[in-house]
Amino acid sequence: MSYPKVSMRPIAARPFSNGFNLDTLSRLTSGQLLQCPSCQHSDSRVLESRAADSGRSVRRRRECLQCEHRFTTYERVESVPITVLKRNGNREIFSRSKLLHGLMRACEKTGLETQRLELVIDDLEVLLQQRNQREVSSQEIGDLVLEQLGDLSEVAYVRFASVYGKFRGVSDFISTLDKLRQRSSLKRQLAGIG
Ligand SMILES: [Zn+2]
Repeated sequence: MSYPKVSMRPIAARPFSNGFNLDTLSRLTSGQLLQCPSCQHSDSRVLESRAADSGRSVRRRRECLQCEHRFTTYERVESVPITVLKRNGNREIFSRSKLLHGLMRACEKTGLETQRLELVIDDLEVLLQQRNQREVSSQEIGDLVLEQLGDLSEVAYVRFASVYGKFRGVSDFISTLDKLRQRSSLKRQLAGIG
């Protein structure tokens, strides 16, 4: 008796909607693949980076190191998964829409538009994608989002902190408010009005 033949195929990596290929990104960042459109010099410095296309590409403003010509590049990135390690120990694939949903809920009636919240997530994704590790804890995601929300709306900051399950008791709540206060006073000092 012969066993049915089982075809063995390598499991292909699933495509994910978000993610950078770090190799591509670092090579581009070092400027080796880019030539100045004006003088073809291959080295430039980055003046400004911004997420574009919902975090799937990076827009960079560059300056040629030889002739100082300024030009813009869009660096599209390949899909690499980001895994989120949840508080309960489970892992799941980072979901942009899930995070956006949580953000929108926290930011109801704060005057923050969805478009602005999408930018918050864009920045977060770029940050996550540029790191070496492909896993991030849900707590760290919460902290990174809070970092940005603190600059936008204090109400949204506190609400998101509670929605994201950061508050386990009164002491957590107070320490979050303290952090927010420290941020505000630091900003005032930096602005020279504190
Ligand atoms: Zn040049």
